Amino acid sequence: MKCYICDNGIKKSQAYFGDIGTPLEGRPLCEYCYYDAETCAIVYYGRNETPYLISETRNETEGNFSVKWRRIDP
Ligand SMILES: [Zn+2]
Repeated sequence: MKCYICDNGIKKSQAYFGDIGTPLEGRPLCEYCYYDAETCAIVYYGRNETPYLISETRNETEGNFSVKWRRIDP
């Protein structure tokens, strides 16, 4: 299989998949792209001081929050 972002080949056993609630949800990704995707949002729950990160590929809120791409065209 191939990484959805960089097109590099990845072994099935080493593939990562975009987390739920992200623009790349369910897409096959290599380790590098999975961890290196740009952060879209950081979520704080109420008084909890722990930041939960949402990127194009990762969603530490496990789907409680999600991000959507909005293309900004002139
Ligand atoms: Zn990649």
